[in-house]
Amino acid sequence: MKEKVNIVWFKRDLRIHDNAPLHEAARVGLPIIPLYVVEPDYWRQPFASRRHWNFIHDCLIELLTDCTNLGQPLIVRVGNIVETLNTFNTSHSIKGVYAHEESGNGWTYCRDRKVIEWCKNQSVPLYEYPSNGVVRHLASRDDWSKIRSSRMARPLIVKPQRLVPVTSISLGDIPSKDDPIFGSFVYGITQKGGRRAAIRTLKTFFDERSKNYIYHLSAPGKSEKYCSRLSPHLTWGTLSVREVYQSSKNHRKYFTDEDSKTWKRNLAAFGSRLSWRCHFVQKIEDQPSIEFRCMHPAFEDIRKNEHNEKYYQAWKKGLTGYPFIDACMRNLIYEGWITFRMRAMLMSFASYHLWLDWRKTGHHLAQLFTDYEPGIHYSQLQMQSGVTGINTLRIYNPIKQSQEHDKTGGFIKRWLPELRNVSSAWVHEPSKMNLPMQRKTQCVIGTNYPEPIVNQIQAAKSARAKIEASREIQGYKEKAKNIHKKLGSRKRPHKKKKRASTVTSQLLLNLR
Ligand SMILES: Cc1cc2nc3c(=O)[nH]c(=O)nc-3n(C[C@H](O)[C@H](O)[C@H](O)COP(=O)(O)OP(=O)(O)OC[C@H]3O[C@@H](n4cnc5c(N)ncnc54)[C@H](O)[C@@H]3O)c2cc1C
Repeated sequence: MKEKVNIVWFKRDLRIHDNAPLHEAARVGLPIIPLYVVEPDYWRQPFASRRHWNFIHDCLIELLTDCTNLGQPLIVRVGNIVETLNTFNTSHSIKGVYAHEESGNGWTYCRDRKVIEWCKNQSVPLYEYPSNGVVRHLASRDDWSKIRSSRMARPLIVKPQRLVPVTSISLGDIPSKDDPIFGSFVYGITQKGGRRAAIRTLKTFFDERSKNYIYHLSAPGKSEKYCSRLSPHLTWGTLSVREVYQSSKNHRKYFTDEDSKTWKRNLAAFGSRLSWRCHFVQKIEDQPSIEFRCMHPAFEDIRKNEHNEKYYQAWKKGLTGYPFIDACMRNLIYEGWITFRMRAMLMSFASYHLWLDWRKTGHHLAQLFTDYEPGIHYSQLQMQSGVTGINTLRIYNPIKQSQEHDKTGGFIKRWLPELRNVSSAWVHEPSKMNLPMQRKTQCVIGTNYPEPIVNQIQAAKSARAKIEASREIQGYKEKAKNIHKKLGSRKRPHKKKKRASTVTSQLLLNLR
């Protein structure tokens, strides 16, 4: 007789703590197959990259240990999930498949539909559990905030005491970081993955770094240290959003004196971002098409047939002739992370100044970001390209941003060694140096560093005009209203305070 088993399918929830599917499956008392499937077809998609795998690999190594300590090591397979389930159903009798609801991209959505169909055809129950703040089949956006808050307040789910082991099953190997399945070589480093690194990051953030969070979160040199850096852990699920939310809340309780008031404010700002996270992921849950189509149809074709490959390649490589843009891109290429404002600026430059389609540039960024999270990613790509119909049009001036956020040019010089001899007076616009000065600093424009790829003032003006013209179509406002009803935030924007402009503008997602 075939051994009865339950399968816990790990996807982007690579932890044993606060993991409802694992907890519930363990309660049943049958042997458990804790399963991770490496799906080669996923890794061939244009948004996937070896950098993601480098991070996931670290997570799986620890998950293997954690599951082993519970009694049944992680089982790893390489292949198609449906075929994998079929194979297990031949050797064992599957009594249930337990998983989190995933609000991923189009590829994972189709894959999940196939699993649902397989379970139905095989009469195997599929038990799916919400991923914290995201609500499946949300009836009205008006209700979302309340539901999310109540979920965040619920007690954390304890890890199971034991997983009943399966008597005969091969474990399978976790493919190495070099395995050809994961595409081309990644230049640079990847943030350390795994639950232990996640806890360390969380701890150093709450104990120390968060004290100055809002003051440094937009400066490219400092944000690396003062932002939480939890994003890849939340993306791949070494921590649940609820765990981070509750840690942050508990931490705030300990402050009493004056100094702590500021710290509390910092943590409150951090808490808002956790809420935005869920808000954005909810968008793709409610409307998966935002990965492929502009939220507002008025903008669907505006950039489609105007692709300029030369511009695209220059932007991708950090060779646009705008030092701050290029430094941000090269920093991102090397480290797989850059702060919010710089992501927004890179995107704005590509979409407005270079008039590139967000669907093309978005793949490049998705591959670079260790924290590629479809719900946030596609919403932000669209917001920073002016195609949602519900957000203010913001076009970043790359020179102004450079002067504000990298006054001395230290960040630029770190990432653009060809500008190392250029003084801070010229580093933001080296093309304005005269030729003798260019020679003296060994930064001859056109030879050592490119000419500005476009005239940024004219390019921004032209982009603004095109976007505004697209709004003139009949029914534009009505459609925008409907988009807001379905996907928009219910929070009223704060009035921008004069004082801490870098702080408030980030809070509002209302950047310039
Ligand atoms: C074009 C563009 C693409 C982006 N793509 C992604 C992506 O693929 N994955 C991703 O996690 N973030 C994305 N972001 C949002 C943001 O830049 C990152 O979440 C943040 O920089 C991560 O660093 P951190 O963990 O130190 O953030 P913190 O500032 O410490 O914030 C804590 C957490 O809140 C969430 N968060 C922070 N800012 C935002 C935001 N603006 N919107 C939604 N959630 C937020 C993240 O989960 C983050 O880990 C994108 C932003 C832009 C402009």
